[in-house]
Amino acid sequence: MKKNKFLFIAVAGLLVSLTGCLYAAKTKDRVCQFSTINALMKGLYDTDFNYGQIKKYGSFGIGTFNALDGEMVALDEKFYQVKADGKVYPVDDSMKSGFCVVKFFNADKEIESSGDIDYASIVERLEEKIPSKNIFYAVRIEGSFKHVKARSVPKQEKPYKGLAAAAKEQSVFEFKNIDGTLVGFRFPDYVSEINMAGWHFHFISKDKTRGGHVLDCVLTRGLISIDQSNGFYLKLPDNQDFLRADFKKLDEAALKKAEQ
Ligand SMILES: [Zn+2]
Repeated sequence: MKKNKFLFIAVAGLLVSLTGCLYAAKTKDRVCQFSTINALMKGLYDTDFNYGQIKKYGSFGIGTFNALDGEMVALDEKFYQVKADGKVYPVDDSMKSGFCVVKFFNADKEIESSGDIDYASIVERLEEKIPSKNIFYAVRIEGSFKHVKARSVPKQEKPYKGLAAAAKEQSVFEFKNIDGTLVGFRFPDYVSEINMAGWHFHFISKDKTRGGHVLDCVLTRGLISIDQSNGFYLKLPDNQDFLRADFKKLDEAALKKAEQ
């Protein structure tokens, strides 16, 4: 009898801790976003979200900084800033993010890729592999690239102009025969006013000296990892500029232009 009671307590304890673990894993499997693409379109580049806080929501991601000071790439728990001068800087916890998307990356699917494929073909292949267009995906593509065309945006001065105008001042970088990783996400069409619908990638080189927002690339060989998620968390800025902004009239043509 005593033995049975002990066994019951042990099994019950195990079940409780297992449920706890599963719950923790589930809440971690969500895409977390800070601010919105519309806010950037309107030139609302400053938030109070620092990367020390953001890290708690994910260690893989893309974004920018206050004053639109370059492109952010987070990979393997490290955060990087690619400035318009083309150099990569470490991000410290006090630096603030004008906008970003992060996740704890956990691959659901892996695909080996060999033979040159360009950006459009990578996207095509990804579209074939995902089970639905209506949920969120984080994608990591680590490998050797024949070519990567990337950009970064220069730090803006107040009064800020919107993203479409700021993007005209972008610096474009061309990297040849470079090892590195594409870090990106796919957002469903129905979220197009809070993020770019479709695919969005940033690049960081293996030696962490080059990177940026990807405009084009050719992957020679690599490992494509897809992490799908049914969870989405959005944290909005709490400043007066955001609270008072009028988001009714979204300039879709301008948004398309800024994405290119
Ligand atoms: Zn970008």
